[in-house]
Amino acid sequence: MLEQKTYLVTGGAGFIGSHLAEALLAQGNRVLAIDDLSTGSLDNIDHLLSHPDFCFTRANIKDEVVLDRLALEANVIIHLAAAVGVNLILKYPLHTIQTNIMGTEAVLKAALRYRTKVLVASTSEVYGKSNSLPFREDDDVILGPTSRCRWAYAASKMVDEFMALAYYQEQGLPIIVARLFNIVGPRQTGRYGMVIPRFVQQALRGEPLTVYGDGQQTRCFLHVEDAVRAFVVLSEAPEAIGEVFNVGATEEISILELAKKVIAMVEASKGLTTSAVNGHKDPRVIFVTYDKAYGYGFEDMQKRVPDNSKIRDYLDWEPRKNLNKILQDVIDYYANKVVD
Ligand code: UDP
Repeated sequence: MLEQKTYLVTGGAGFIGSHLAEALLAQGNRVLAIDDLSTGSLDNIDHLLSHPDFCFTRANIKDEVVLDRLALEANVIIHLAAAVGVNLILKYPLHTIQTNIMGTEAVLKAALRYRTKVLVASTSEVYGKSNSLPFREDDDVILGPTSRCRWAYAASKMVDEFMALAYYQEQGLPIIVARLFNIVGPRQTGRYGMVIPRFVQQALRGEPLTVYGDGQQTRCFLHVEDAVRAFVVLSEAPEAIGEVFNVGATEEISILELAKKVIAMVEASKGLTTSAVNGHKDPRVIFVTYDKAYGYGFEDMQKRVPDNSKIRDYLDWEPRKNLNKILQDVIDYYANKVVD
């Protein structure tokens, strides 16, 4: 049997953190989870709380005393705690900047004290409005002006990446950066804007799906279990240290096509015979302007596709679950859940 490792998972009661904790425990590891439950939820980890190798601490990521105690015990830190979701970021830009930058600095400082390896979760948002597709880790990035607070999220995550890489270069701290592309799956909430849980719940309730803009913008969705597997391989590979990796799927779909797919799958799951969505007049879809959805002047990314060759070539990681599987898992999850 492999030696048991202790992982500290920040944001451990969040959507991704809870899946990661579950997978690490299943592999025989010990997991310390820290979360302030601002967007994370005890419901996500309810089934883990009685596990002898799971320890949950409710605290803010900027609490240096608590972090120090947890970092002391950890062999590896996976840093997921961050401000999440477009809705919250637009509403609370200050909180976003402070959580992302000061939180990551607190984690890196604590890690340095014990020279603990840290995997920092970053985001595909850092590519901004670049249209040099697919996005490669060493591409230039194009962000909008500081007067548009939606860019504060991308900029704060870029600072996190710079900071992690500087800790590696100047202090020799073993760090890895993972840029996540639209991670989805069971337990993700639609409360903060994410499209798949919103569409699935709307379809299950028989409400029209809210397609923002003209729905021609595209995304590539990655199953949370594939993301978790990427975290594990990245955190175990010596050659990943000091490097930045895209973690995403390459199956691209427009948001309008996504809406049609969700409608068809949900109707099929209810045993209904389904007809194709028929243009702007179809009552099952409503088009909502970006201004109405996010407030005046919001700029959406038209396309976001990762180049996955680096993580594939270094670590032989590839997504295993396609969009149909993702949607089926999310539909099953919400069909069996009362409300969100
Ligand atoms: N979106 C939508 N309807 C919704 C929620 C989101 O059309 O009810 C769109 C959103 O404008 C974006 C895409 O779906 O173009 C993905 O949004 P999400 O917030 O899930 O992730 P993002 O890629 O924006 O980080």
